[in-house]
Amino acid sequence: MIARSSAEIEGVPNVRIHQKKLVATICGHETEPKGQVRAFDVECEMDMPTKPDGSVEFCLDCIAGMTIRCAWCGNVIFIGSPVTLYGASDPDFVPKPDSVVYDEARRQYVGCLGWECADTGADRAGFWVPDTQTRRGMVERVRSPIEVAMSTGSTVLVSDLGDIKEARNPH
Ligand SMILES: [Zn+2]
Ligand SMILES: [Zn+2]
Repeated sequence: MIARSSAEIEGVPNVRIHQKKLVATICGHETEPKGQVRAFDVECEMDMPTKPDGSVEFCLDCIAGMTIRCAWCGNVIFIGSPVTLYGASDPDFVPKPDSVVYDEARRQYVGCLGWECADTGADRAGFWVPDTQTRRGMVERVRSPIEVAMSTGSTVLVSDLGDIKEARNPH
């Protein structure tokens, strides 16, 4: 007796066939490498990156548990989302519940790239990714497009000319 998927039995094409389950290498739970995750009543399709040997580090449930909210607007930030790290200039600023402070001293919070939150996509400062140590979400810093442009010299701000000259001719 050979087990067949329901799609084969009913002869219906394009029905979602069950994917092979994997055991996540870090959390140890059985999981599919992609599927729906749900957090704060929002659903999203997650397609986890697999290692060269086909394994994944976390199950979809654990990935869902690492979801946070934007400190500024409360939008849901799933694992894999780009984030901003704006600082709060308003001393009375109260971050939204379930959000994350990035740098307490500088009052920098993890925020979303939503149109009402980020001034521009160029403010992307990193991505919300799983931390294999704490098994929670964390910010993986990437240089924002602005930072990259500044360092390659393709964008030159007049007020920074002195600094750029200095940077190009170190003592
Ligand atoms: Zn898990
Ligand atoms: Zn936001």
